[in-house]
Amino acid sequence: MESKNFDNLIFGLAEFICRDAKYPYPKMLSHALNKLALDLTKVLYPRTLTGLLALLEKPVKTWYPPSLLPKEFDSDFGLLYEGSLSEEASRYLYEELLERTKLSNSASAVAQQIAIENLQFQKILERLQEIYNNDNDPEQVQQEYVWLRRFLIENPYTTTVQLRKVFSQTRHLSIQEVGELYEECEENEPCWNCDRCGPLFEKYGQLRGIKPSACNDHRQDLPYVQKLTWKQGLRRLKFGIHWRICLPGIPEMRLFKVLEDLQSNYSEQLCAIHLYPGIDRYDLQLCFCNGSNWAVDVKDYRDPYNLAPKLTSLFGEGDLHYDESFYVIPNQRLQQREDYLEILREQAKKLPSITHLLSETAFGKRVMTKIECLQVGKSS
Ligand SMILES: [Zn+2]
Repeated sequence: MESKNFDNLIFGLAEFICRDAKYPYPKMLSHALNKLALDLTKVLYPRTLTGLLALLEKPVKTWYPPSLLPKEFDSDFGLLYEGSLSEEASRYLYEELLERTKLSNSASAVAQQIAIENLQFQKILERLQEIYNNDNDPEQVQQEYVWLRRFLIENPYTTTVQLRKVFSQTRHLSIQEVGELYEECEENEPCWNCDRCGPLFEKYGQLRGIKPSACNDHRQDLPYVQKLTWKQGLRRLKFGIHWRICLPGIPEMRLFKVLEDLQSNYSEQLCAIHLYPGIDRYDLQLCFCNGSNWAVDVKDYRDPYNLAPKLTSLFGEGDLHYDESFYVIPNQRLQQREDYLEILREQAKKLPSITHLLSETAFGKRVMTKIECLQVGKSS
């Protein structure tokens, strides 16, 4: 595979940064850099570490051989940003690379560590799905899955005491396995959180979020930025869980809460909303009083071209049956790029006609229209 060296470069850089960018280079990085030195045609290979780090911050399209670049990586971005993996490199690592890489034994320790972290949640999910599918305690297992998922989204920091309180009565989840999705905060380490994007880290005296394209203003006096006081047993979500579960979960929960409000006002029309039905077959199921069901999945991607290939027909067997389905895009993404939905619709032509692509606002209006239709239907 032509992009293999690019992938190794990303893994190697992830490991290098974990070690605070100190010599010697991790083995994987050093191999990838040797190969890179031979492949470079557009620029000369830098002679110093400073020169190399500066090159890695530049948009890859300006220096990386185009034929060796994976098409899933947005080449307008560099591999590093202010000395850390760039947002695009993190996205590529967590959303593309780990999805398809079966790491061999020769992979570096950190690459394996990242993959293991990524698998921790996957393993819980698969186990709960199996119990559910075998019709063994399905309601309880569904309930516990929702508790876990919401907990990870709403508690990017937790404590051992809180974990014990919340997960001591669960039948299918252990306190220990939930605790392993978090890492311990070091004593007196400054811990910051943003309500909009989760745990923050300090870089060059400023607070940085995990996904600057979604949330980039973290001045310490902003109301959604908080400092946590360190205490014994304080834990922070592991990076991979933060990236894959917590961050995408924030717009999912935001939509859920809007719909919950609508449901409490119009419960005769909108009878129920199920979160992550069928152990996460999709995000939300809306059940209307005339018996029709809608399935909803929220997708928060910066680039519609990256999102398009991920859109497929939602699972709709048995209780998860739906009459219409919706992919909902956070408003902010459409403000950042006016032709977002146009591109997405063009790229996702193969979707069935009952699947709609809408903004958060347009979806809210669609639900309201449905409620009004049902009200009229009843009074006439
Ligand atoms: Zn933020």
